Parts: sequence; C-alpha cells; structure tokens
Amino acid sequence: MEHFRVVIIGGGPIGIACALEAQKNGLNYVILEKGPIVNSLFNYPQNMQFFSSSEKLEIDNIPFISTEAKPKRNEALEYYRRIVTSNDLNIRLFEKVKNVEKTQNGFSIVSSKNSYTADKVIVATGFYDLPNTLNIPGEELPKISHYYKDPHFYASQKLAVVGASNSAIDAALECYRKGAEVTLIIRGDEVGPRVKYWVRPDIINRIEEGSIKAYFNSKLTEVRQSEIVIDTPEGTVTLQNDFVLALTGYMPNFDFITHMGIKLSEDAKKLPQYDPETMETNVAGIYLAGVICGGMETHKWFIENSRIHAKMIISSILKEKEISTI
Ligand SMILES: Cc1cc2nc3c(=O)[nH]c(=O)nc-3n(C[C@H](O)[C@H](O)[C@H](O)COP(=O)(O)OP(=O)(O)OC[C@H]3O[C@@H](n4cnc5c(N)ncnc54)[C@H](O)[C@@H]3O)c2cc1C
Repeated sequence: MEHFRVVIIGGGPIGIACALEAQKNGLNYVILEKGPIVNSLFNYPQNMQFFSSSEKLEIDNIPFISTEAKPKRNEALEYYRRIVTSNDLNIRLFEKVKNVEKTQNGFSIVSSKNSYTADKVIVATGFYDLPNTLNIPGEELPKISHYYKDPHFYASQKLAVVGASNSAIDAALECYRKGAEVTLIIRGDEVGPRVKYWVRPDIINRIEEGSIKAYFNSKLTEVRQSEIVIDTPEGTVTLQNDFVLALTGYMPNFDFITHMGIKLSEDAKKLPQYDPETMETNVAGIYLAGVICGGMETHKWFIENSRIHAKMIISSILKEKEISTI
C-alpha cells in the first residue's frame, strides 16, 4: 500500500493548486481524480465563457493568457492541463475515491483502483457531480437533462429550460440562436440577479420581444413523452415538448464528506465545519479546499476566491511539521 504525506481528492483547479503548493514545499502527495484533468470544466457547456477574467482564474501566479478578457472553457482546459503536464504533477486520473477512514496513524483511502495511506487528506471535490433534482413525474425520461453541452442538438426542437441563473440563461439564449423553440420556466418573478451583467439585458430583451417565451412564478410539474405540464399563476399550462434542460444548480456530495466524519450545519445551507484560518475540518488532518466549502451555497466560492485555500492548507501542514520536529 502506497503512503503519501498528502492525498488530494479531486483534480479540479483547486486540487491542482494544492498539488502545486505541496510540490513546491517538498511534500510527497498524489491527486486522485475520478475523471480527466479538471473534470468539471471538461463537462461544462462546450461554448461556455467564464464570468471571471483570466487573471482571476490563475493559480500559483502562472499567467493565463486568453483571447478575450474572460476566457472560454477550451482556453481554461488548455491552461490547467498545461500546468499539470509541464509541472509533472503526480495525478492519477479516472480513479474515484470511494472511502476515507481515520486510522491510528493517519488515514486509509480506498479508490476504484487502489488503496493508500496518508498523513493528511485534502478534499477538493467541488459541487458539479450532483444536480438539484426536480422530483417530479417524468424526471427519469431520457429527454430531460441536468447538464447542457451543445446547442446544435436542440435545433428545430421544442426545448424547455428550467432555471433563471447563468447556466439556464446561457443555454436558453444559445439554443434559441441555433433554431430551438425555447420556453423558460422560472420559479421567481425575474431573471436571476447574478446572471452575467452583459448577458442579462440580452435575455430580458428576447423575452420582451417574445422570441423566448418565459413563464415566471411558475413550476414544471410533469414531463411526458411529448408534453410538459407547467403550474403558472394563470393556471396549469400543457405544452408540446421535445426536450427539457433542468438547470437548477448542483450540490456537493454530502454523503461522501459526512462519511469521513465531517460535520455539516443543521440548517438548509449544510455548511461543512472547518477552521477558516487553516481549512482543517472538525476531523483533524482532513482539509477542505475550493467550492465544496460553501455547502448548498454554491455561489459563495469560486476559483477566484478559493485558490488561496492551497497556500492556507499547505502552510498549516508545514507548521505542524515544524512543531513536531522542534
Ligand atoms: C457553469 C459554471 C461556470 C462557472 N464559472 C466560473 C467563473 O467564471 N469563475 C469562477 O471563479 N468560478 C466559476 N465557477 C465555479 C467554480 O469556480 C468551479 O466550479 C470550479 O471548477 C471549482 O473548482 P474546484 O477545484 O473547487 O472544484 P471542481 O472543479 O468541481 O473539481 C472537483 C473535482 O473533484 C473530482 N471528484 C469529485 N468526487 C471525486 C471522488 N470521489 N474521487 C475523485 N475525484 C472526485 C471531480 O471529478 C472534479 O474534477 C463556475 C461553475 C459552473 C458550474
């Protein structure tokens, strides 16, 4: 069984930042990633543009050059991939961590391919794996998806998009522009206030001119083979429909972290317990890094404000080492 000083779970931007920091400081580490490098970004919509400008997505001050101020998904893939390959980071891909147990001397980690022991564990697993489901009849039909990739697929189709935040609005606009007949179903009474400032006027104008039909204060209540049912303030509406994109957000895998002993707040936010100075959780030796820290508040943390976690965690681990060698 291999032993590492630090096992990093998740090879997203923040897991990679932790690995760079560990490598610079001579700590023996491995990243275990269940998919390809930056798996979440790989699964983002094909044409997605970040709301952050490229310098805000940089890790370890490595310059991120993009064509426009705000980079596209492909440029981000290129950036993070090059960091991994040119720094020869120790990353094992397509290796899912299944279990982390505290032992007498540290931790035992079981993945889909191997078993490890470690002194410290950094959990940087993000929130993109589990979509917030609608829990309505028909949600199991293959025509409904919680992930959006490419607008071409929906050309000449009747598409319902559920949601009012960036993912939903980007998908609605792109698909409309590629010839889909788009209906937006929005729970509140307006387009989400956090929608990118340069996109918001576009969607509002498309709704006002009637190019995209929007139902506000409304709920999708059923999905059928060729119809959908919407609960609106004017009563129940049944529409012809080919596809549904339910882009209502994502949540961290809470079972994964609670099984390690990490405690969550008991309110709806489900905030994991950690020390904001060191990022160490209530389980001594397990640290949280990146967007997983926000619990259900997935808009609180992003690359820009969580890349700092890497330095905080590694310096806390190093300080402990100094104390133990005095
Ligand atoms: C559509 C979208 C647009 C966004 N735009 C921006 C933006 O413009 N600017 C910004 O700063 N932020 C943005 N974010 C938010 C956030 O920055 C990203 O989610 C970012 O990827 C978070 O980095 P992370 O490393 O914390 O998590 P992730 O990138 O999600 O990385 C987590 C990794 O852990 C892996 N993993 C999960 N479970 C396991 C397991 N059990 N074993 C092994 N590996 C596992 C996953 O495969 C994944 O690769 C956006 C988010 C979304 C969804």
